[in-house]
Amino acid sequence: MSWTHEFKEALKTNEDLKNFFDQDFPEINYPLFIPQVFASKILEAGPDSALWKQFLPNEQEDNQTLGRLDPIGDKVHAKNNQLIHRYENRVLFTPTTVCPILCRYCFRKNELSLKDDIFDQKFTEAKKYLKENPSINEVIFTGGDPFILSNEKLAFYIQEFSEIDSLKYLRFHTRTPIILPSRIDEGLLSILISAKHLFKRSLIMIHVNHVSELTDDVAEAIEQLTNEGIEVYSQTVLLKGVNDSTDALFDLFTKLSDCKVKPYYLHHPDEARGTMHFYLPLEEGRKIVASLHNKLPGWALPQYIIDIPGGEGKVPAFNPESFEFSGVLINRLGEKIKIN
Ligand code: SF4
Repeated sequence: MSWTHEFKEALKTNEDLKNFFDQDFPEINYPLFIPQVFASKILEAGPDSALWKQFLPNEQEDNQTLGRLDPIGDKVHAKNNQLIHRYENRVLFTPTTVCPILCRYCFRKNELSLKDDIFDQKFTEAKKYLKENPSINEVIFTGGDPFILSNEKLAFYIQEFSEIDSLKYLRFHTRTPIILPSRIDEGLLSILISAKHLFKRSLIMIHVNHVSELTDDVAEAIEQLTNEGIEVYSQTVLLKGVNDSTDALFDLFTKLSDCKVKPYYLHHPDEARGTMHFYLPLEEGRKIVASLHNKLPGWALPQYIIDIPGGEGKVPAFNPESFEFSGVLINRLGEKIKIN
């Protein structure tokens, strides 16, 4: 079955869920979307699994008293032209609001469900902005998920960016190889190979949170990328009840390394509204990461980072000098900030 067909046949309503899983789920105020091929994996894994908790609705999402609508300050840095310019030399490019699945813990779940204007289709203005700001040398495709774009659209954007001399690096943030591995087809592979030649480096950053997501079909899709010499990295969100243990992360990073994927980022969860049941204190994250340092070699160990709430950007979340597990961060100005 083609990936577009799998995408169209996704479960989108509570009734679809009830028919597929043979049980009721709470009616919540956020949209649902799970391709059936992936829903079968969730069903097989069962209600206590990392897959079930990440993708099936939970009544705690409707708690609107905790968390932030824009936890990492996307709006503060949005340029109203599909670009979010937070760091001097790189921009986020948001060409789509569409994802291969809707993750219940998504840090952008409020912006995506409200179709926030950071996703406005203003590509001509985006290109003009990039030309006028030559200190930007990297474009990071995000969204939504860029691999849900058609091959034609992706090829168009890559070609357009390749015509801007100051751009040297491309990065694609995606969950699609995990959710719809059939998307890694010949057409997409040839586009990614051409990107590799058009830019100094072109990286795929796969979002993956638990070893159970790396089934054989997913590993084969990743192998197609790495066999073509495409650089593949991973990013993982630390999530309470899903992967908040040394063993769970050890298994994940070991399997990723075996798949020739470099574990790159372990994100402390953002304080996004509707996701706070996945949140855990910084002290707990630091303890888990400290024990991972004893178990994994440096090349299999991602950097543990946190976005300072409100838009100040990413800083390292692990402080190996002290091992105090204090809950205090140091921002880019050297100021101490207490995080709950
Ligand atoms: S794929 Fe990424 S952007 Fe889309 S819902 Fe999941 S976490 Fe959010």
